[in-house]
Amino acid sequence: MTTSADLFATAQRLMPGGVNSPVRAFGSVGGVPPFMVSGEGPWLRDADGNRYVDLVCSWGPLLLGHAHPGVLEAVHAAVDRGLSFGASTPAEAQLAELVQQRVPAVERIRMVSTGTEATMTAIRLARGFTGRDLVVKFAGCYHGHEDALLVAAGSGVATLSLPGSAGVPAGTVADTVVLPYNDLAAVEQLFAEKGDRIAAIITEAAPANMGVVEPGDGFNAGLRRITADHGALLIMDEVLTGFRVHPAGYWGLSTFNDAGTLDDAGTAAWAPDLFTFGKVIGGGLPTAALGGRADVMEYLAPLGPVYQAGTLSGNPVAMAAGVATLQYADGVVYDTIDGLSRQLQAELRSALDAAGVDHTIQHAGNLFSVAFGTSGTGVHDYAQAQAQESFRFAPFFHAMLDAGVYLPPSVFEAWFLSAAHDDEAMERVIAALPAAAQAAAAA
Ligand code: PMP
Repeated sequence: MTTSADLFATAQRLMPGGVNSPVRAFGSVGGVPPFMVSGEGPWLRDADGNRYVDLVCSWGPLLLGHAHPGVLEAVHAAVDRGLSFGASTPAEAQLAELVQQRVPAVERIRMVSTGTEATMTAIRLARGFTGRDLVVKFAGCYHGHEDALLVAAGSGVATLSLPGSAGVPAGTVADTVVLPYNDLAAVEQLFAEKGDRIAAIITEAAPANMGVVEPGDGFNAGLRRITADHGALLIMDEVLTGFRVHPAGYWGLSTFNDAGTLDDAGTAAWAPDLFTFGKVIGGGLPTAALGGRADVMEYLAPLGPVYQAGTLSGNPVAMAAGVATLQYADGVVYDTIDGLSRQLQAELRSALDAAGVDHTIQHAGNLFSVAFGTSGTGVHDYAQAQAQESFRFAPFFHAMLDAGVYLPPSVFEAWFLSAAHDDEAMERVIAALPAAAQAAAAA
């Protein structure tokens, strides 16, 4: 049998760090990452024959779990018709309509292949549309790895304790202003000084790349108001939250669920100018998108002067996976995931309390993560996220892994559930928590 250790050794000879995306290398938790060979529902199987409850879910896309029969059937049917045509296909409009039904403010959409492409294009579009250069992002938010946004970024950049990235020209980030998250006064002040030079604010709808951080009451709506007052665009990055925390993403969760913000027609009182989507929209295949106001989106080529293109954009197999995933993601799916999330948060909290581990469970909708040593303040921004007792995570993580639970290998990432997480899977996770909490306490 070729073991994960063998496979990792081979991979390290062939690929930097043995991986094609950094956090997979287990750099911050140590040890050999299991090499996965198959997935079914909530389960992953590795090359060594171990079976894990998967709480990564491909970092978000697998809302319905692994190998959902209906999604596989749609994908198989698409594969049988051919893999890529480099021309328009019917499924692109089908996916676009499904998105628009859920998020009506997406008047026009463009499909791309990764979340990085979506946010990169949204930034270029905002600059092209407004004729301004400055872009505002928040410390600890991750929007993919394009140069302009790779400062004070979360996710792997946070996990590896990097301030940003080598290879990004100073000139490129000179037009990126980084502000502390959840600090509306800082945003007001910046716009008072430089509002007429700012093209856009980009923000994660609810940050989940510095661990999960809930936007404070009125924070997103405040960003909407301030940008609108100054003729700047608001880009809400829902690559991670979109179609996961609510049928209409975090924007839907925070507007549709609050009847006070709906007008007579049942429309939400506010929306960002642009959204970016990824992950769930492709159901596990490489699809992402940006969408929003028609007048802004029509600044994109071929109608407008802002260029963007992609050989595999709107790929028919990926569209089929996305369409099927959104079709199967009905109210029951979201209710199930919300319930599982509440259950797991409660179990995690009681296991850590029993072991005497100071912590907060950070959550935004059904997304959650744990932050150690933060109960005094909770985590509302990147400075607080970084100040936590992150050394407690590696022993916690390995105790869970040894018990057959595959968590994201970083304290700065959210835990992902799916509608396929059944009683057997949940029982395994819950049974593993006390020993993991003890390991965290002993660190
Ligand atoms: N935005 C957010 C909020 C993300 O979480 C991510 C990836 N985790 C991205 C953008 C980048 O997406 P991708 O990895 O598909 O490039």
